[in-house]
Amino acid sequence: MGKIAILTSGGDAPGMNAAIRAVVRQGLYLGLEVYGIERGFAGLVRGSAFRRMEMGSVAGIIHRGGTILHTARAPEFLDEAVQRQAALRLKKEGITGLVVIGGDGSFRGAMALEKFGIKTACIPGTIDNDIAGTDSTIGFDTAVNTVLDAMNRLRDTATSHERFFVVEVMGRNNGLLALTAGLAGGAEAILVPEIPYDLESICRRLRQGIERNKTHSLILVAEGAASAFTIGREIEEKMGLETRVTVLGHIQRGGSPTAVDRILASRMGAAAARLLWEGRGGLMVGFKGGEIYPVPLMEAFIEKKSFPSELYELALTLSR
Ligand code: ATP
Repeated sequence: MGKIAILTSGGDAPGMNAAIRAVVRQGLYLGLEVYGIERGFAGLVRGSAFRRMEMGSVAGIIHRGGTILHTARAPEFLDEAVQRQAALRLKKEGITGLVVIGGDGSFRGAMALEKFGIKTACIPGTIDNDIAGTDSTIGFDTAVNTVLDAMNRLRDTATSHERFFVVEVMGRNNGLLALTAGLAGGAEAILVPEIPYDLESICRRLRQGIERNKTHSLILVAEGAASAFTIGREIEEKMGLETRVTVLGHIQRGGSPTAVDRILASRMGAAAARLLWEGRGGLMVGFKGGEIYPVPLMEAFIEKKSFPSELYELALTLSR
């Protein structure tokens, strides 16, 4: 394979730039020509020019969040005629391999291109860490640390004012970000979409804390579990005390990637370039037990990532 392209798609995640850098530089090292496609599948179908990537094109980006290739949602890419057109466009340029960095939706887009003869190597880049076949996704560790930093700050105020804080974090269908940050930050309660919550038992836990002279608490709520404002109001009504609500929002998506994410992105990016160089496709680069290995794409989006219930139990036990 002589020419490959790369795009980023779906929500941005810290470490995507480090992955782009690795794909480009490993690809060049292997003798490939590498092209950058701007704005994900939208750029591919709406005709943004392909950008020839050289060593210098990815200089000075390893520490930057977001993606230099930009990202976009392209609902029209669900249409098979549009997918065929996109594959044709790549082939016209002599590009037969594509690296897609994004979440499971983006992987479906990659799978669609496979049908039309484009080999794809996907890299899981999302702060949600909601993709089966990989222990972690690029951006997750940075987002956990961002939430943790916010929790540390909020705990200072919660302690000083002796208040209960409800903090909403991202995670529409998946509570791993809330759970991991909650365990690391000692949250007194963690609400995740995977486990139905019972407000009465949460209030009971909080009351037990008060009986032990605990005058502040942090309750983490994944957005897919409930609205932090609703939980805050219900706790106020049930317990007769004031709460403060913070919704962290898009703060969680940006920022300089942690060393963990930079290294993961570098390893995954290099592996993706190598897979295409070997003429392999229909794969996601996964990370399991400290090793990088290829996973069939179907596995990545058909299987559901299991929720680590034992970590959830541990978080509750330790924050009693
Ligand atoms: P995130 O986890 O950050 O949401 P994602 O990759 O899952 O990332 P989506 O918005 O679901 O984000 O998908 C990104 C893009 O992938 C879509 O805008 C669309 O262009 C393409 N895509 C999604 N689903 C499909 C599908 N079933 N078939 C073809 N293309 C798809």
